[in-house]
Amino acid sequence: MVLIDGKATAAQIKAEIKEEVDRIVSNGGKRPHLAAILVGHDGGSETYVKNKVLACEACGFQSTLIRFEDDITEEALLAEVDRLNCDESVDGFIVQLPLPKHISEQKVIEAIDYRKDVDGFHPINVGRMAIGLPCYVSATPKGILELLRRYNVPTSGRKCVILGRSNIVGKPMAQLMMQKQYGDSTVTVCHSRSATLKKECQEADIIIAAIGKPGFLTADMVKPGAAIIDVGTTRVPDPSRKSGFRLSGDVDFEHVAPLCSFITPVPGGVGPMTICMLMQNTLSAAKKEFYR
Ligand code: NAP
Repeated sequence: MVLIDGKATAAQIKAEIKEEVDRIVSNGGKRPHLAAILVGHDGGSETYVKNKVLACEACGFQSTLIRFEDDITEEALLAEVDRLNCDESVDGFIVQLPLPKHISEQKVIEAIDYRKDVDGFHPINVGRMAIGLPCYVSATPKGILELLRRYNVPTSGRKCVILGRSNIVGKPMAQLMMQKQYGDSTVTVCHSRSATLKKECQEADIIIAAIGKPGFLTADMVKPGAAIIDVGTTRVPDPSRKSGFRLSGDVDFEHVAPLCSFITPVPGGVGPMTICMLMQNTLSAAKKEFYR
């Protein structure tokens, strides 16, 4: 069994990005600039945004954090999005989700100029991704593809089961695993209404679990030799930790790991790759790799 080390892979990719940025800047080019809008004080969002700012530093990017209280109006937030769309010094930006209930996330996502949408959530990027055109691919599925590629996990012609059908993980993951230039796999997507979920998993060569149910994928659901990617990150109470919780994946790691060819741990698997792929998208934005 090979343990896929997302933390080490992410550190290596960030070093590669930094090297490229240093080269660009020493040749007189512009330092990539990522801006992030954070609304309110949600603990999870604060941590994610803090880590994104730290990742920018590690990659040699300029970063700007724009904070608003959670009573900001939708109109004012949309005005800020528009300002960033027009700010030529900003290569790409994100609006950290979730947003307060009185603001339509979809409206905000669609207000972002797709050429600066480094989260890859805008319908233009999602649509281009679905038909295999160059675009910003959302960070979590992109990070998983990168792990599969760097660890030489065989995917072409293999049966891949994806658990979960969210817009940010399950759906794009299924699109990418299906496409010839990425996974080239035979893909099945399962969700809470899937009657044959266990059987599908038992027949899978690759399982990508993104449902948010700790320990859901058990050893009796896994074919020996399968590759397992665990996207789940659920906070479960743990009084022995200073934080009072630990992160738990969707896979019963202890019993599934001995059966697998490859497996990602939680934490330290998919998670660290996600922010790293946001950095890669920002570098692509600065280089105008996909759009002029
Ligand atoms: P989500 O929006 O929370 O949706 C969960 C999906 O799982 C839905 O499609 C749901 O089916 C399905 N599901 C729920 N219970 C199920 C069950 N018992 N059997 C089969 N399917 C079930 O999904 P998400 O936002 O992609 O998040 C999933 C997990 O990944 C969470 O733990 C999240 O924290 C984690 N995550 C991690 C990263 C990272 O960077 N590591 C990034 C994003 C998400 P229905 O559609 O039928 O409701």
